[in-house]
Amino acid sequence: LLRFEDVSKSYGDEEVLHDVSFELDARDVEVIVGPSGSGKSTLLRCVNRLTEIDGGAIYLDGEDVHAMDENVLRRHVGMVFQDFNLFAHRTARGNVTLGLTEVLGLSEREADERAEQYLRRVGVADQAESYPAELSGGQKQRVGIARALAMDPDLMLFDEPTSALDPELVGEVLGVMRDLADDGMTMLAVTHEMGFARSVASRLTFLEDGRIVERGPPERLFEQPDHDRTREFLGELT
Ligand code: ATP
Ligand code: MG
Repeated sequence: LLRFEDVSKSYGDEEVLHDVSFELDARDVEVIVGPSGSGKSTLLRCVNRLTEIDGGAIYLDGEDVHAMDENVLRRHVGMVFQDFNLFAHRTARGNVTLGLTEVLGLSEREADERAEQYLRRVGVADQAESYPAELSGGQKQRVGIARALAMDPDLMLFDEPTSALDPELVGEVLGVMRDLADDGMTMLAVTHEMGFARSVASRLTFLEDGRIVERGPPERLFEQPDHDRTREFLGELT
């Protein structure tokens, strides 16, 4: 479903991604970990072209994302951010309906119905008329997930979706992500929640200095990593 082929990205002289190659099948759940500045957010942002790459290519369902219309691309790829990125002046429902009316061209009524359905799915239906400032962090993030899901994407990107949350709210967001994985959603997630990685991820990738150091089933990276750096880094996380 998603293929990175020797993807490189630099900012000025600094190479942030270096010949990154990997492949994700439909229904795969891939977790990416790595030190701050290793290029995790950049890697995700390249998928839906919030960032353009300098070398290599990224294919979504066989199609070069660089050649795709950005609106089409973003319909296929949902993204959830660390800091929620909700529109402050729109209600929870309004946040979900915006893309449905503007990008998918649904009528207000159809959009409202679909928003309702997705807000219910992530457990915030009762907050549909609330503004972001009136929501807890966990509720905000679940609205963010509902907004992305309502577009019916093929792939969901998560960039540290729980790291801005109070510890007691982390579980509710991870629970939603776990349900999504159980439903067969293909996911590429940057998260340092190793309980989630162990129990949900089909693969774990350790990224350092813009390179994939090691990638494989989470159990193997935890129990028998090929590289000392992987062992050290995962050891610090758990
Ligand atoms: P963190 O764990 O802190 O979120 P990260 O692994 O997500 O880190 P990135 O945000 O991908 O790392 O950044 C990788 C490198 O690219 C960093 O050195 C960062 O300073 C640099 N960088 C990221 N975005 C830009 C930008 N828009 N302009 C210039 N440099 C950037
Ligand atoms: Mg980041």
